[in-house]
Amino acid sequence: MAKPVIAIVGRPNVGKSTIFNRIVGERVSIVEDIAGVTRDRIYSPAEWLGKEFNVIDTGGIDIGDEPFLEQIRQQAEIAIEEADVIIFLTSAREGVTDADENVAQILYRSNKPVLLAVNKVDNPEMRSDIFDFYSLGLGEPYPVSGSHGIGLGDLLDAAITHFPEEGEEEYDDSVIKFSLIGRPNVGKSSLVNAILGEERVIVSNVAGTTRDAIDTSFTSKDGEEFVMIDTAGIRKKGKVYENTEKYSVLRALRAIERSDVVLCVLNAEEGIREQDKKVAGYAHEAGKGIIILVNKWDAIEKDTKTMKTFEDNIREEFAYLSYAPIIYVSALTKQRLHQLPELISRVSQNQRLRIQSSTLNEVILDAVAMNPTPTDKGKRLKIYYATQVATKPPTFVVFVNEPEMMHFSYARYLENRLRDTFSFEGTPIRLITRRRK
Ligand code: GDP
Ligand code: GDP
Repeated sequence: MAKPVIAIVGRPNVGKSTIFNRIVGERVSIVEDIAGVTRDRIYSPAEWLGKEFNVIDTGGIDIGDEPFLEQIRQQAEIAIEEADVIIFLTSAREGVTDADENVAQILYRSNKPVLLAVNKVDNPEMRSDIFDFYSLGLGEPYPVSGSHGIGLGDLLDAAITHFPEEGEEEYDDSVIKFSLIGRPNVGKSSLVNAILGEERVIVSNVAGTTRDAIDTSFTSKDGEEFVMIDTAGIRKKGKVYENTEKYSVLRALRAIERSDVVLCVLNAEEGIREQDKKVAGYAHEAGKGIIILVNKWDAIEKDTKTMKTFEDNIREEFAYLSYAPIIYVSALTKQRLHQLPELISRVSQNQRLRIQSSTLNEVILDAVAMNPTPTDKGKRLKIYYATQVATKPPTFVVFVNEPEMMHFSYARYLENRLRDTFSFEGTPIRLITRRRK
């Protein structure tokens, strides 16, 4: 099941990004910082009372040079399209404005639950300022203060009651879900058509599923079942905002979430750009299987070193994706495309790999024998026992005497030993250090 989505809409300066940051909280993410995502974050996982969801700050989606009213109108449309619950944010300082009324009109016509929140209610005396907001016709206003962190609990309590019931998984667990992610023009739609056009690939249906995503099911010639998850940029619906970079990133993030394996498509003619890194970083953090596709391989001049040069560059720019296989393809000539189903399937299997505890602990013991654990002030890190606690991605808990003594570099070393021993090609793995009780 994809996580529910809350979108925040409202005119500029009402405090959307302040509220967004409050809801999301402090999320320390090494990759995001490397990729510069934290600075202009508009989409993030969050949690309230044990319920996980994603939040969108629609204010961060610039819609080109459109006039002010048109911009917020489109942001509201994006919220309606993408979210399960909409928080419509206004401000007690300015009161009800024409722009607020405009947004209310749009939201009113949608079938999505809308919670009206009045921000900047910084103290109890200001609570009476919210009564004007009943006139927006969206029910009872929730007074909040983003700066002071007041009122958000009540707002989120209300928001989660509108989440969809947890339903069945959309697809059988044996079906491999993947998506193609990349900037405009890297060749995603050409690749989709080329993959589906492969001989003996049977396309069984093109079904509308949640939030009008269009997924394509097909069976490879080896009889394996796949679902290709649609992202904006592949099948456009002709909305103005579909061409904006932020919106395409947003859609890519949503597709990544529903996928087992993400194909990050690069354009051989253009090399690597910032946006490529953001989206790949998100897939890594989300623990998805990752394959790097260098497309348009037909279009560049090559000599014996070209592939190596590309690989070195990718490994440097995507240092955290050292596990991801790279494949050089062409949607035009179909070069190597026939290898894709098998590669996707292999990465998906690696994501689901379960290692027996006895085997796992032998590898860890050997690793420690070869490279002793760190010491600090005469004390040594002791590893007692390791066990796999999850798949997709494979996640291991290592029980130790002093978790603080597990340095990043030593954890990295253990991860590499696990990678040398088991076939984790294409999948992130997670090591969690816990104190043995
Ligand atoms: P956005 O444009 O809607 O994303 O608004 P921002 O989050 O950037 O906030 C706009 C301005 O309002 C900033 O100067 C914030 O510091 C301020 N602000 C946000 N929340 C509050 C609040 O609860 N009380 C007050 N007094 N100011 C706030
Ligand atoms: P998307 O925006 O990522 O879906 O990219 P498209 O599939 O629309 O492709 C963008 C442009 O690149 C089109 O003109 C395609 O014909 C071209 N293109 C796509 N794949 C290849 C390829 O493998 N080789 C060459 N030479 N051109 C390609």
